[in-house]
Amino acid sequence: MRSVVEIVPTHIVREGGGFKVRRPFRMGRVLSPFLLIDEMGPVDYGPGEAVGAPWHPHRGFETVTYLLDGRMRHEDSAGNSGELNPGDVQWMTAGRGIIHCEEPHEDFLKTGGRTHGFQIWVNLPAEHKMMAPRYQEVPASESPTVEENGVSARIIAGECMGVSSSIDTKIPITLIHVKMEKGSRLIQKIDSALNGMIYVFGGSIIIENKISVKKHPMAFGLGAKQNIVDGELALLSEGDEIKIHSTSESEFLILAGPELNEPIERYGPFVMNTKEEIHQAFLDYQNGTLAK
Ligand code: MN
Repeated sequence: MRSVVEIVPTHIVREGGGFKVRRPFRMGRVLSPFLLIDEMGPVDYGPGEAVGAPWHPHRGFETVTYLLDGRMRHEDSAGNSGELNPGDVQWMTAGRGIIHCEEPHEDFLKTGGRTHGFQIWVNLPAEHKMMAPRYQEVPASESPTVEENGVSARIIAGECMGVSSSIDTKIPITLIHVKMEKGSRLIQKIDSALNGMIYVFGGSIIIENKISVKKHPMAFGLGAKQNIVDGELALLSEGDEIKIHSTSESEFLILAGPELNEPIERYGPFVMNTKEEIHQAFLDYQNGTLAK
């Protein structure tokens, strides 16, 4: 049974063209294989106010964009483009290089409205960092969902309550959006070889475990609280399942993936293993070969 070993609080920062994101204080290795877990908004824009992320490059990892409210448009230097509406998922593998922009849809920009969603960066192991870029897009109408006993879930990657995602990943990833009614329970299986974490963005939940936290070998944060509230990222101990009890109406993400155990060299939108590779990414971006 997994338990909470550490709570990482979040803070609000500005990204891209100035849009507001809520982000865990600690990032990088501690979240392996996730590099960034950004909650975009929620923010209410007036007409003409919505902002996004103008043209920028990426190399060495994947970005997952999951929209809950609003309407976005994306375009890349290779000529790919598309839009994202509530419930849609874009799983973009930057691999050796993508240069793109992620902006509010022009109609949404005109009217204004609420923007809310997530952008999550998933690291790639060294052997796949320079893979060919690819997009996997799952519109809300086709994305796997399940509802049972007061628990509803959208499976972005991995499996929940017997329902699986079709997203293909190079390393095993679980990413599930869960909504729970007050008093409901969910048991989520997670392979014990994977790091597990939960990000709550509405209400509060309790992680139930049979073993006393104080006796648990992984509970280095002695007496770590087992309740997780809005705006907290909980890092979980080892184990093969998570037992969740919702103490209010709640909403959260369950995330899991392997410890990559490789050096992380990050500079802005490039995430590689060595300083030399970062330098090369800059050179390739400057001379126009990054996304070729
Ligand atoms: Mn981007």
